[in-house]
Amino acid sequence: MALTQRFDILVVGGGPAGMAAAARAAECGARVGIVDDNPKLGGQIWRGESDQQGKSEAAQWADRLDRSGATKLCGIRVFHQPQAGILLAEGDDDLKELCYEKLILATGARERFLPFPGWTLPNVMGAGGLQAMVKSGLPIRGKRVVVAGTGPLLLAVAAYLRKHGAEILMICEQASWGSLAAFAVSIAGQPRKISQALQLKRDLAGVPFIPKSWPVAAHGPRTLEKVTIALAGRTETLSCDYLACGFHLVPNIELPILLGCQVRNGCVSVDELQRTNLPNIFCAGEPTGIGGLELALAEGQIAGLAAANRTSTARGLFRQQKRARRFARGLDRTFQLRPELRTLPQLETIVCRCEDVPYSRLRQHSSWRVAKLQSRCGMGPCQGRICGPATQFLLKWNLDSVRPPVFPARVESLAAMTDHSELVGSEVTGGQ
Ligand SMILES: Cc1cc2nc3c(=O)[nH]c(=O)nc-3n(C[C@H](O)[C@H](O)[C@H](O)COP(=O)(O)OP(=O)(O)OC[C@H]3O[C@@H](n4cnc5c(N)ncnc54)[C@H](O)[C@@H]3O)c2cc1C
Repeated sequence: MALTQRFDILVVGGGPAGMAAAARAAECGARVGIVDDNPKLGGQIWRGESDQQGKSEAAQWADRLDRSGATKLCGIRVFHQPQAGILLAEGDDDLKELCYEKLILATGARERFLPFPGWTLPNVMGAGGLQAMVKSGLPIRGKRVVVAGTGPLLLAVAAYLRKHGAEILMICEQASWGSLAAFAVSIAGQPRKISQALQLKRDLAGVPFIPKSWPVAAHGPRTLEKVTIALAGRTETLSCDYLACGFHLVPNIELPILLGCQVRNGCVSVDELQRTNLPNIFCAGEPTGIGGLELALAEGQIAGLAAANRTSTARGLFRQQKRARRFARGLDRTFQLRPELRTLPQLETIVCRCEDVPYSRLRQHSSWRVAKLQSRCGMGPCQGRICGPATQFLLKWNLDSVRPPVFPARVESLAAMTDHSELVGSEVTGGQ
Protein backbone atom coordinates (compact mmCIF):
# COMPACT_ATOMS: atom_id res chain seq x y z
CA MET A 1 0.00 0.00 0.00
CA ALA A 2 1.48 3.38 -0.96
CA LEU A 3 1.48 6.46 1.20
CA THR A 4 0.28 9.48 -0.77
CA GLN A 5 1.81 12.92 -0.27
CA ARG A 6 0.71 16.02 -2.16
CA PHE A 7 2.77 19.08 -2.98
CA ASP A 8 2.37 22.27 -4.96
CA ILE A 9 6.00 21.89 -6.01
CA LEU A 10 8.00 18.69 -5.80
CA VAL A 11 11.77 18.72 -6.22
CA VAL A 12 13.55 15.48 -7.18
CA GLY A 13 17.20 15.59 -6.15
CA GLY A 14 18.63 17.06 -2.95
CA GLY A 15 21.99 18.37 -4.17
CA PRO A 16 22.78 22.10 -4.26
CA ALA A 17 20.38 22.71 -7.20
CA GLY A 18 17.47 20.89 -5.54
CA MET A 19 18.10 22.44 -2.11
CA ALA A 20 18.22 25.95 -3.58
CA ALA A 21 15.08 25.30 -5.66
CA ALA A 22 13.12 23.90 -2.71
CA ALA A 23 14.18 26.68 -0.31
CA ARG A 24 13.34 29.50 -2.72
CA ALA A 25 9.98 27.98 -3.68
CA ALA A 26 8.96 27.25 -0.06
CA GLU A 27 9.97 30.77 1.01
CA CYS A 28 7.34 32.02 -1.44
CA GLY A 29 4.67 30.13 0.49
CA ALA A 30 4.31 27.08 -1.75
CA ARG A 31 3.83 23.62 -0.25
CA VAL A 32 7.16 22.07 -1.28
CA GLY A 33 8.61 18.57 -1.01
CA ILE A 34 12.22 17.65 -1.74
CA VAL A 35 13.11 14.02 -2.30
CA ASP A 36 16.57 12.45 -2.44
CA ASP A 37 17.69 8.85 -2.49
CA ASN A 38 20.42 9.37 0.09
CA PRO A 39 19.91 9.43 3.86
CA LYS A 40 21.05 13.08 3.90
CA LEU A 41 20.60 15.99 1.53
CA GLY A 42 23.61 17.72 -0.02
CA GLY A 43 24.21 15.82 -3.26
CA GLN A 44 27.65 14.79 -4.44
CA ILE A 45 29.53 17.80 -3.15
CA TRP A 46 27.77 18.69 0.13
CA ARG A 47 26.73 15.28 1.41
CA GLY A 48 27.69 15.06 5.07
CA GLU A 49 28.45 18.79 5.18
CA SER A 50 24.97 20.21 4.89
CA ASP A 51 24.03 19.14 8.43
CA GLN A 52 27.06 20.78 10.03
CA GLN A 53 26.57 23.94 12.03
CA GLY A 54 28.50 26.91 10.75
CA LYS A 55 29.09 29.37 8.01
CA SER A 56 29.89 27.09 5.07
CA GLU A 57 27.72 27.57 1.99
CA ALA A 58 26.36 24.04 2.50
CA ALA A 59 25.36 24.76 6.10
CA GLN A 60 23.78 28.07 5.11
CA TRP A 61 21.61 26.45 2.42
CA ALA A 62 20.68 23.58 4.74
CA ASP A 63 19.63 26.08 7.39
CA ARG A 64 17.67 28.12 4.85
CA LEU A 65 15.90 25.01 3.62
CA ASP A 66 15.01 24.01 7.21
CA ARG A 67 13.56 27.46 7.90
CA SER A 68 11.62 27.49 4.60
CA GLY A 69 9.26 24.73 5.81
CA ALA A 70 9.85 22.44 2.81
CA THR A 71 9.23 18.76 3.57
CA LYS A 72 12.40 16.67 3.29
CA LEU A 73 11.99 13.13 2.06
CA CYS A 74 15.40 11.45 2.37
CA GLY A 75 16.30 7.88 1.49
CA ILE A 76 13.53 7.84 -1.12
CA ARG A 77 14.17 7.08 -4.79
CA VAL A 78 11.79 8.11 -7.57
CA PHE A 79 11.54 5.30 -10.10
CA HIS A 80 8.43 5.88 -12.21
CA GLN A 81 5.74 8.32 -13.30
CA PRO A 82 2.55 6.28 -13.82
CA GLN A 83 0.64 9.37 -14.96
CA ALA A 84 1.31 13.10 -15.27
CA GLY A 85 1.37 14.69 -11.80
CA ILE A 86 2.22 11.51 -9.91
CA LEU A 87 5.60 9.97 -9.19
CA LEU A 88 6.24 6.63 -7.54
CA ALA A 89 9.12 6.47 -5.09
CA GLU A 90 10.56 3.75 -2.96
CA GLY A 91 12.11 4.00 0.53
CA ASP A 92 13.82 1.26 2.54
CA ASP A 93 10.53 -0.36 3.37
CA ASP A 94 7.77 1.72 1.93
CA LEU A 95 6.34 2.91 -1.34
CA LYS A 96 5.23 6.50 -1.85
CA GLU A 97 2.95 8.16 -4.32
CA LEU A 98 4.12 11.76 -4.67
CA CYS A 99 1.57 14.07 -6.28
CA TYR A 100 2.63 17.45 -7.63
CA GLU A 101 1.31 20.49 -9.42
CA LYS A 102 4.80 21.47 -10.56
CA LEU A 103 7.94 19.41 -10.70
CA ILE A 104 11.60 20.44 -10.55
CA LEU A 105 14.06 17.80 -11.69
CA ALA A 106 17.50 18.28 -10.09
CA THR A 107 18.89 14.77 -10.46
CA GLY A 108 22.57 15.73 -10.77
CA ALA A 109 25.34 13.86 -12.57
CA ARG A 110 27.58 10.85 -12.21
CA GLU A 111 31.14 10.01 -13.24
CA ARG A 112 31.91 8.70 -16.71
CA PHE A 113 34.05 5.57 -16.82
CA LEU A 114 35.90 4.25 -19.84
CA PRO A 115 36.90 0.60 -19.95
CA PHE A 116 40.56 -0.39 -20.29
CA PRO A 117 42.30 -3.68 -19.44
CA GLY A 118 42.14 -4.20 -15.68
CA TRP A 119 39.58 -1.46 -14.95
CA THR A 120 37.38 -3.95 -13.08
CA LEU A 121 40.12 -4.90 -10.59
CA PRO A 122 39.44 -4.13 -6.91
CA ASN A 123 40.91 -0.73 -5.92
CA VAL A 124 40.43 0.76 -9.39
CA MET A 125 37.72 3.21 -8.42
CA GLY A 126 35.85 6.23 -9.63
CA ALA A 127 37.65 9.36 -8.43
CA GLY A 128 34.47 10.72 -6.83
CA GLY A 129 33.64 7.21 -5.64
CA LEU A 130 36.95 6.88 -3.78
CA GLN A 131 36.43 10.34 -2.27
CA ALA A 132 32.95 9.30 -1.10
CA MET A 133 34.34 6.11 0.47
CA VAL A 134 37.02 8.07 2.31
CA LYS A 135 34.31 10.47 3.52
CA SER A 136 32.49 7.41 4.88
CA GLY A 137 35.56 6.16 6.75
CA LEU A 138 37.79 4.21 4.30
CA PRO A 139 41.37 4.61 5.66
CA ILE A 140 43.54 6.28 3.01
CA ARG A 141 46.50 7.51 5.09
CA GLY A 142 49.78 6.32 3.60
CA LYS A 143 48.13 4.76 0.52
CA ARG A 144 49.71 5.44 -2.89
CA VAL A 145 47.10 6.78 -5.29
CA VAL A 146 47.25 7.53 -9.01
CA VAL A 147 44.48 9.91 -10.11
CA ALA A 148 43.60 9.74 -13.80
CA GLY A 149 41.02 10.65 -16.41
CA THR A 150 39.76 14.13 -17.11
CA GLY A 151 37.96 17.08 -15.56
CA PRO A 152 38.31 19.38 -12.57
CA LEU A 153 36.98 16.68 -10.25
CA LEU A 154 40.38 14.94 -10.49
CA LEU A 155 42.09 17.89 -8.80
CA ALA A 156 39.40 18.25 -6.13
CA VAL A 157 39.64 14.54 -5.32
CA ALA A 158 43.45 14.50 -5.33
CA ALA A 159 43.52 17.48 -2.94
CA TYR A 160 40.95 15.83 -0.67
CA LEU A 161 42.79 12.50 -0.56
CA ARG A 162 46.14 14.20 0.08
CA LYS A 163 44.63 16.20 2.93
CA HIS A 164 43.55 12.88 4.43
CA GLY A 165 47.04 11.43 4.27
CA ALA A 166 47.19 9.73 0.84
CA GLU A 167 50.35 9.92 -1.25
CA ILE A 168 49.28 11.16 -4.69
CA LEU A 169 51.82 9.68 -7.10
CA MET A 170 50.58 11.40 -10.24
CA ILE A 171 47.56 13.20 -11.70
CA CYS A 172 47.03 12.15 -15.33
CA GLU A 173 44.79 14.52 -17.31
CA GLN A 174 43.92 13.55 -20.89
CA ALA A 175 43.38 17.19 -21.96
CA SER A 176 46.37 18.98 -23.49
CA TRP A 177 48.28 21.92 -21.95
CA GLY A 178 46.89 24.06 -24.79
CA SER A 179 43.26 23.48 -23.92
CA LEU A 180 43.96 23.74 -20.17
CA ALA A 181 45.69 27.06 -20.73
CA ALA A 182 42.74 28.36 -22.78
CA PHE A 183 40.42 27.29 -19.96
CA ALA A 184 42.58 29.12 -17.39
CA VAL A 185 42.36 32.29 -19.50
CA SER A 186 38.57 31.92 -19.73
CA ILE A 187 38.16 32.08 -15.93
CA ALA A 188 40.36 35.17 -15.64
CA GLY A 189 37.41 37.43 -14.81
CA GLN A 190 35.98 35.14 -12.11
CA PRO A 191 37.63 35.80 -8.74
CA ARG A 192 35.92 32.87 -7.00
CA LYS A 193 37.16 30.37 -9.58
CA ILE A 194 40.65 31.88 -9.51
CA SER A 195 40.85 31.58 -5.75
CA GLN A 196 39.64 27.94 -5.95
CA ALA A 197 42.30 27.21 -8.59
CA LEU A 198 45.03 28.84 -6.48
CA GLN A 199 43.91 26.88 -3.43
CA LEU A 200 44.11 23.62 -5.41
CA LYS A 201 47.59 24.61 -6.65
CA ARG A 202 48.72 25.09 -3.04
CA ASP A 203 47.06 21.86 -1.87
CA LEU A 204 48.71 19.86 -4.65
CA ALA A 205 52.16 21.50 -4.58
CA GLY A 206 54.79 18.94 -5.54
CA VAL A 207 52.34 16.42 -7.06
CA PRO A 208 53.19 15.64 -10.72
CA PHE A 209 50.34 16.84 -12.96
CA ILE A 210 50.72 15.37 -16.46
CA PRO A 211 48.44 16.67 -19.24
CA LYS A 212 47.88 14.55 -22.34
CA SER A 213 48.24 11.35 -20.32
CA TRP A 214 45.80 8.56 -19.48
CA PRO A 215 45.65 5.06 -18.00
CA VAL A 216 46.00 2.21 -20.49
CA ALA A 217 46.03 -0.81 -18.15
CA ALA A 218 45.67 -1.74 -14.51
CA HIS A 219 47.53 -4.82 -13.30
CA GLY A 220 47.36 -7.25 -10.41
CA PRO A 221 46.53 -10.92 -9.89
CA ARG A 222 43.60 -10.29 -7.53
CA THR A 223 43.66 -6.59 -6.70
CA LEU A 224 45.33 -3.54 -8.20
CA GLU A 225 49.11 -3.48 -7.86
CA LYS A 226 50.29 -1.37 -10.80
CA VAL A 227 48.95 0.97 -13.43
CA THR A 228 50.36 1.71 -16.88
CA ILE A 229 50.01 5.27 -18.07
CA ALA A 230 50.39 6.60 -21.63
CA LEU A 231 52.28 9.89 -21.63
CA ALA A 232 54.19 11.81 -24.25
CA GLY A 233 54.19 8.97 -26.76
CA ARG A 234 55.49 6.33 -24.32
CA THR A 235 54.14 4.32 -21.39
CA GLU A 236 55.17 4.26 -17.75
CA THR A 237 54.13 1.70 -15.12
CA LEU A 238 53.71 2.76 -11.49
CA SER A 239 53.12 0.62 -8.38
CA CYS A 240 50.14 1.91 -6.42
CA ASP A 241 47.37 0.96 -3.98
CA TYR A 242 44.49 2.82 -5.68
CA LEU A 243 43.71 4.15 -9.12
CA ALA A 244 41.10 6.91 -8.82
CA CYS A 245 39.77 7.29 -12.31
CA GLY A 246 36.96 9.23 -13.97
CA PHE A 247 36.42 10.85 -17.36
CA HIS A 248 34.43 13.95 -16.41
CA LEU A 249 30.71 13.72 -15.61
CA VAL A 250 27.52 12.55 -17.31
CA PRO A 251 24.16 14.24 -16.57
CA ASN A 252 21.54 12.01 -14.92
CA ILE A 253 18.80 12.39 -17.51
CA GLU A 254 17.03 9.02 -17.26
CA LEU A 255 14.10 10.36 -15.22
CA PRO A 256 13.68 13.50 -17.38
CA ILE A 257 13.70 11.29 -20.51
CA LEU A 258 11.14 8.92 -18.98
CA LEU A 259 8.87 11.89 -18.34
CA GLY A 260 9.28 13.07 -21.94
CA CYS A 261 11.63 16.03 -21.49
CA GLN A 262 13.45 17.10 -24.62
CA VAL A 263 17.16 16.30 -24.54
CA ARG A 264 19.89 17.79 -26.73
CA ASN A 265 23.52 16.59 -26.73
CA GLY A 266 22.94 14.54 -23.61
CA CYS A 267 21.45 17.42 -21.56
CA VAL A 268 17.86 18.42 -20.77
CA SER A 269 16.82 21.46 -22.84
CA VAL A 270 15.58 24.38 -20.73
CA ASP A 271 14.87 28.07 -21.26
CA GLU A 272 16.19 30.92 -19.08
CA LEU A 273 13.57 30.16 -16.43
CA GLN A 274 14.65 26.49 -16.36
CA ARG A 275 11.38 25.39 -18.00
CA THR A 276 11.53 22.17 -19.99
CA ASN A 277 9.36 21.55 -23.04
CA LEU A 278 6.72 20.00 -20.73
CA PRO A 279 4.22 22.24 -18.95
CA ASN A 280 4.98 22.70 -15.23
CA ILE A 281 8.20 20.68 -15.37
CA PHE A 282 11.48 22.47 -14.66
CA CYS A 283 15.01 21.16 -14.62
CA ALA A 284 18.06 22.56 -12.79
CA GLY A 285 21.68 21.72 -12.07
CA GLU A 286 23.79 19.09 -13.78
CA PRO A 287 21.04 17.44 -15.92
CA THR A 288 20.96 20.63 -18.01
CA GLY A 289 24.76 20.50 -18.48
CA ILE A 290 27.86 19.97 -16.36
CA GLY A 291 28.59 23.38 -14.90
CA GLY A 292 29.68 23.14 -11.27
CA LEU A 293 28.28 24.42 -8.00
CA GLU A 294 27.67 28.04 -8.98
CA LEU A 295 25.52 27.06 -11.96
CA ALA A 296 23.63 24.47 -9.89
CA LEU A 297 22.77 27.10 -7.28
CA ALA A 298 21.75 29.75 -9.83
CA GLU A 299 19.60 27.34 -11.84
CA GLY A 300 18.07 25.82 -8.71
CA GLN A 301 17.03 29.21 -7.37
CA ILE A 302 15.63 30.30 -10.72
CA ALA A 303 13.64 27.08 -11.07
CA GLY A 304 12.25 27.39 -7.53
CA LEU A 305 11.24 31.01 -8.02
CA ALA A 306 9.79 30.43 -11.49
CA ALA A 307 7.78 27.43 -10.26
CA ALA A 308 6.43 29.65 -7.47
CA ASN A 309 5.46 32.26 -10.10
CA ARG A 310 8.12 34.78 -8.98
CA THR A 311 9.58 35.26 -12.42
CA SER A 312 10.68 38.84 -11.89
CA THR A 313 12.75 37.83 -8.83
CA ALA A 314 14.10 34.90 -10.84
CA ARG A 315 15.26 37.29 -13.56
CA GLY A 316 17.56 38.92 -11.00
CA LEU A 317 19.66 35.74 -11.12
CA PHE A 318 20.04 35.66 -14.91
CA ARG A 319 23.49 37.34 -14.85
CA GLN A 320 24.83 34.74 -12.44
CA GLN A 321 23.24 31.98 -14.55
CA LYS A 322 24.75 33.33 -17.80
CA ARG A 323 28.24 33.66 -16.31
CA ALA A 324 28.07 30.13 -14.91
CA ARG A 325 26.80 28.77 -18.25
CA ARG A 326 29.82 30.33 -19.97
CA PHE A 327 32.01 28.44 -17.53
CA ALA A 328 30.07 25.23 -18.31
CA ARG A 329 30.73 25.67 -22.04
CA GLY A 330 34.44 26.08 -21.23
CA LEU A 331 34.38 22.82 -19.25
CA ASP A 332 32.81 21.02 -22.22
CA ARG A 333 35.43 22.30 -24.64
CA THR A 334 38.41 21.68 -22.38
CA PHE A 335 37.58 18.20 -21.18
CA GLN A 336 36.29 16.74 -24.45
CA LEU A 337 37.51 13.16 -24.74
CA ARG A 338 40.36 12.67 -27.20
CA PRO A 339 39.77 10.07 -29.96
CA GLU A 340 42.80 7.97 -28.86
CA LEU A 341 40.75 6.89 -25.82
CA ARG A 342 38.55 4.84 -28.17
CA THR A 343 41.45 2.40 -28.48
CA LEU A 344 41.65 1.73 -24.72
CA PRO A 345 39.54 -1.45 -24.51
CA GLN A 346 40.97 -4.71 -25.88
CA LEU A 347 38.62 -7.29 -27.41
CA GLU A 348 38.40 -9.22 -24.14
CA THR A 349 37.95 -6.12 -21.92
CA ILE A 350 34.66 -6.22 -20.03
CA VAL A 351 32.55 -3.18 -20.92
CA CYS A 352 29.22 -4.01 -19.22
CA ARG A 353 30.42 -5.13 -15.80
CA CYS A 354 26.92 -5.99 -14.50
CA GLU A 355 26.37 -8.58 -17.25
CA ASP A 356 30.03 -9.40 -18.03
CA VAL A 357 29.84 -8.36 -21.68
CA PRO A 358 33.25 -7.95 -23.37
CA TYR A 359 34.07 -5.36 -25.99
CA SER A 360 34.32 -8.04 -28.73
CA ARG A 361 30.61 -8.88 -28.29
CA LEU A 362 29.51 -5.27 -28.42
CA ARG A 363 31.47 -4.35 -31.52
CA GLN A 364 29.42 -6.84 -33.54
CA HIS A 365 26.27 -4.75 -33.12
CA SER A 366 25.04 -1.65 -34.86
CA SER A 367 23.25 0.11 -32.01
CA TRP A 368 22.70 0.25 -28.26
CA ARG A 369 19.23 -1.24 -28.68
CA VAL A 370 20.45 -4.25 -30.72
CA ALA A 371 23.39 -4.78 -28.35
CA LYS A 372 21.01 -4.81 -25.38
CA LEU A 373 18.77 -7.37 -27.02
CA GLN A 374 21.62 -9.61 -28.16
CA SER A 375 24.08 -9.38 -25.28
CA ARG A 376 22.12 -8.11 -22.23
CA CYS A 377 24.55 -5.19 -22.10
CA GLY A 378 23.05 -2.40 -19.97
CA MET A 379 20.40 -4.66 -18.48
CA GLY A 380 22.01 -5.30 -15.09
CA PRO A 381 21.51 -3.46 -11.82
CA CYS A 382 23.10 -0.18 -13.01
CA GLN A 383 20.77 -0.21 -16.01
CA GLY A 384 23.42 1.01 -18.40
CA ARG A 385 24.49 3.99 -16.29
CA ILE A 386 28.14 2.92 -16.62
CA CYS A 387 28.40 1.04 -19.94
CA GLY A 388 25.86 3.34 -21.68
CA PRO A 389 28.00 6.51 -21.71
CA ALA A 390 31.10 4.35 -22.39
CA THR A 391 29.59 2.78 -25.53
CA GLN A 392 28.20 6.15 -26.57
CA PHE A 393 31.80 7.38 -26.76
CA LEU A 394 33.48 4.18 -27.95
CA LEU A 395 30.96 3.11 -30.59
CA LYS A 396 29.12 6.42 -31.15
CA TRP A 397 25.80 4.86 -30.19
CA ASN A 398 22.70 6.83 -29.28
CA LEU A 399 21.15 5.82 -25.98
CA ASP A 400 17.66 6.22 -27.34
CA SER A 401 15.23 4.77 -24.86
CA VAL A 402 14.54 4.72 -21.15
CA ARG A 403 12.02 2.33 -19.67
CA PRO A 404 10.45 2.29 -16.24
CA PRO A 405 11.52 1.65 -13.56
CA VAL A 406 14.45 4.06 -13.92
CA PHE A 407 16.09 2.38 -10.90
CA PRO A 408 15.86 -1.24 -9.77
CA ALA A 409 12.76 -1.54 -7.57
CA ARG A 410 11.27 -4.18 -5.23
CA VAL A 411 8.79 -6.66 -6.63
CA GLU A 412 5.85 -5.09 -4.77
CA SER A 413 6.78 -1.68 -6.20
CA LEU A 414 6.89 -3.16 -9.68
CA ALA A 415 3.46 -4.66 -9.07
CA ALA A 416 2.18 -1.25 -8.00
CA MET A 417 3.71 0.23 -11.11
CA THR A 418 1.87 -2.13 -13.41
CA ASP A 419 -1.43 -1.69 -11.64
CA HIS A 420 -1.42 1.86 -10.44
CA SER A 421 -5.10 1.69 -9.63
CA GLU A 422 -4.19 -0.37 -6.55
CA LEU A 423 -2.35 2.59 -5.14
CA VAL A 424 -5.07 4.00 -3.00
CA GLY A 425 -3.54 4.33 0.39
CA SER A 426 -3.56 6.31 3.58
CA GLU A 427 -3.03 9.94 2.74
CA VAL A 428 -0.67 12.44 4.27
CA THR A 429 -0.37 16.07 3.23
CA GLY A 430 3.20 17.35 2.87
CA GLY A 431 4.73 20.68 3.83
CA GLN A 432 2.79 21.33 6.98
C1 LIG B 1 30.87 11.61 -7.78
C2 LIG B 1 30.95 13.12 -7.82
C3 LIG B 1 31.77 13.81 -6.92
C4 LIG B 1 31.85 15.20 -6.97
N1 LIG B 1 32.71 15.83 -6.11
C5 LIG B 1 32.89 17.17 -6.21
C6 LIG B 1 33.85 17.85 -5.41
O1 LIG B 1 34.54 17.25 -4.59
N2 LIG B 1 33.97 19.20 -5.57
C7 LIG B 1 33.23 19.89 -6.49
O2 LIG B 1 33.39 21.11 -6.62
N3 LIG B 1 32.30 19.28 -7.26
C8 LIG B 1 32.13 17.94 -7.16
N4 LIG B 1 31.23 17.31 -7.97
C9 LIG B 1 30.41 18.12 -8.89
C10 LIG B 1 29.20 18.67 -8.14
O3 LIG B 1 28.38 17.59 -7.79
C11 LIG B 1 28.41 19.65 -9.02
O4 LIG B 1 29.25 20.71 -9.31
C12 LIG B 1 27.15 20.26 -8.42
O5 LIG B 1 27.31 20.56 -7.09
C13 LIG B 1 25.96 19.40 -8.72
O6 LIG B 1 24.81 19.80 -8.04
P1 LIG B 1 23.39 19.19 -8.43
O7 LIG B 1 22.44 19.61 -7.38
O8 LIG B 1 23.08 19.52 -9.85
O9 LIG B 1 23.58 17.61 -8.41
P2 LIG B 1 23.99 16.55 -7.30
O10 LIG B 1 24.83 17.15 -6.26
O11 LIG B 1 24.52 15.39 -8.07
O12 LIG B 1 22.60 16.14 -6.63
C14 LIG B 1 21.62 15.37 -7.27
C15 LIG B 1 20.94 14.48 -6.24
O13 LIG B 1 19.78 13.87 -6.81
C16 LIG B 1 19.69 12.55 -6.34
N5 LIG B 1 18.85 11.79 -7.28
C17 LIG B 1 19.05 11.57 -8.60
N6 LIG B 1 18.03 10.86 -9.13
C18 LIG B 1 17.14 10.64 -8.12
C19 LIG B 1 15.89 9.95 -8.04
N7 LIG B 1 15.35 9.36 -9.11
N8 LIG B 1 15.24 9.89 -6.84
C20 LIG B 1 15.79 10.49 -5.74
N9 LIG B 1 16.98 11.17 -5.76
C21 LIG B 1 17.64 11.24 -6.93
C22 LIG B 1 21.15 12.10 -6.33
O14 LIG B 1 21.39 10.96 -5.54
C23 LIG B 1 21.84 13.35 -5.75
O15 LIG B 1 21.87 13.32 -4.34
C24 LIG B 1 31.09 15.92 -7.93
C25 LIG B 1 30.26 15.23 -8.81
C26 LIG B 1 30.17 13.84 -8.78
C27 LIG B 1 29.27 13.12 -9.75
